[in-house]
Amino acid sequence: MEKSYEFLRRIVDSITEHIVVINETGQIRFVNRSWKSFGKNNGCLITDHWIGINYLEECDKASSMGDDFGTNAAIGIRSVIEEKIKIFYLEYPCHSPDEKRWFMMRVTPFQIEDKNYFVVLHQNITERKLAEEEVRNLARIDGLTGIPNRRTFNEFFQEEWRRCMRLKKPICLAILDIDHFKLLNDTYGHQAGDDCLVKVGALLKGFAKRPGDLCARYGGEEFTLVWGDTTLDNATKLSIELCNSLPAFKIPNVQSPTEKYVTASIGLAGMIPSRAVNEEELIREADRMLYKAKNNGRNRVEWET
Ligand code: GH3
Ligand code: MG
Ligand code: MG
Repeated sequence: MEKSYEFLRRIVDSITEHIVVINETGQIRFVNRSWKSFGKNNGCLITDHWIGINYLEECDKASSMGDDFGTNAAIGIRSVIEEKIKIFYLEYPCHSPDEKRWFMMRVTPFQIEDKNYFVVLHQNITERKLAEEEVRNLARIDGLTGIPNRRTFNEFFQEEWRRCMRLKKPICLAILDIDHFKLLNDTYGHQAGDDCLVKVGALLKGFAKRPGDLCARYGGEEFTLVWGDTTLDNATKLSIELCNSLPAFKIPNVQSPTEKYVTASIGLAGMIPSRAVNEEELIREADRMLYKAKNNGRNRVEWET
């Protein structure tokens, strides 16, 4: 039994990877059970009669309809057939209407009775891809507040700066610093300080809703807000509203000489980006305005007029 065709057939059919074997012209000579059932479950027009279908031509058809996978798969398979490369490996997205999915394709040749065949194997690698995506996202988010971190801010700000330069639209930047935060820590403990930071982060999210907006934790008790394609007038209104909503949370900070509740100071700057100025200049300007807000008594917004 173990030497029989049936024995090998059962092995190949029990493999969860989808396997198709083609000849030198791309004609399908064999498919395993996983291949067939994947086709059936994914609305494939070809149901049972795979043998004789030309896989390369199917890739070319998909390619002509703008499918990147079709293009890359056809190039890769031909490279193996023409012995330009030994094996071909490709990872590609293949999302279904209700779930994200990724697959990898591997093409390996074999010879029998002087004829060349090629095993094309497709494997679902969604779990690994999702884990990688998760790691990438974690590296962009501040662990305490759950909002974007400084690194994400830097990238976003640069991109948004360039976008506004192309559009000739103003971009605004606000830097928010919690007032007398050290006193809050000293009075209520570090945990209370952390809780306060989480609340401020959540509040900021409500002020960064459009695609050109971003709120981020800049470091410690400092936060930034980018408002792309936004006038300084509108950004001023947003900043004042933000500044006024923080004391309304009534997070106690009794030792603070400013208010008995947590307040913050905001420095705001805006400009239409041009090649003559570096985007760092906007950060410096917002920082100068923050310094001014602190000196003028805290719990206020200052902006360049
Ligand atoms: P000012 O009104 O001038 O801004 O005074 P301040 O006390 O807020 O400023 P200062 O820079 O003196 O203190 C900031 C404090 O923030 C000191 C630091 O220990 C605290 N801090 C920084 N990061 C964290 C954090 O992640 N959690 C907590 N609980 N405290 C933090
Ligand atoms: Mg500070
Ligand atoms: Mg502070």
